[in-house]
Amino acid sequence: MRFAVFGDIHANLEALQAMLADAHAAECTHYVCLGDVVGYNANPHECVELVRALECPVVKGNHDELACVEASLDGFNPLAEEALTWTRANLTHEDKQWLRELRLVRQVRDFTIVHATLDTPHKWGYVFNQLDAAASFNYQHTGICFYGHTHAPRAYIRDGAVKSVPLDKLRIETNKKYFINVGSVGQPRDGDWHASYCIYHVDDHLVELRRLEYDIRATQEKILKAGLPQRLADRLEVGK
Ligand code: ZN
Repeated sequence: MRFAVFGDIHANLEALQAMLADAHAAECTHYVCLGDVVGYNANPHECVELVRALECPVVKGNHDELACVEASLDGFNPLAEEALTWTRANLTHEDKQWLRELRLVRQVRDFTIVHATLDTPHKWGYVFNQLDAAASFNYQHTGICFYGHTHAPRAYIRDGAVKSVPLDKLRIETNKKYFINVGSVGQPRDGDWHASYCIYHVDDHLVELRRLEYDIRATQEKILKAGLPQRLADRLEVGK
């Protein structure tokens, strides 16, 4: 059994297609999605359709939530706000209905999935350090929890104290707890433009980070053609 664990697609169709092709080639048998299917890039409807078609567990991200309500966007950064207004106008009623019904936290087999944090998932806080991770661990009842939201792959391990380790190939031990950020498919922010997701090799007790090339030029052209901010196209190639 092999799970492709992915999130923060952010309407980047080319990156999502590359990720799905890689997961298929790597013989993933199951999929789970950590949310933020939409927002920022130019193919929200297409990405919702592709993720829906997987019929896999999906949790709600902050962009998913805001894309399907009419609430004002006060407090959101201007770049995200402009993209969200555009996204709202480019999703179908059915897309919004699907996004609206997503849950915040789910347990899948022996692990948990959440977009932002386990302590206050509806507040969309960010886990950037051991202290943030420690708060989440208090609410984690499974050995592993996968999350996203920061767009930077990272693993926190609780073994008495909480430590932070870069993610590459992570061996899972039964007496420890793991809070694992799989990075972002559609808008990485760790300085690497390659699409990011993880494969959880259940039988081998291994979580593996994957970084993938995709047709970034096509994504950038679509952003500009849609009239979305130039900066959204520019940031993709620097991974910021
Ligand atoms: Zn996101």
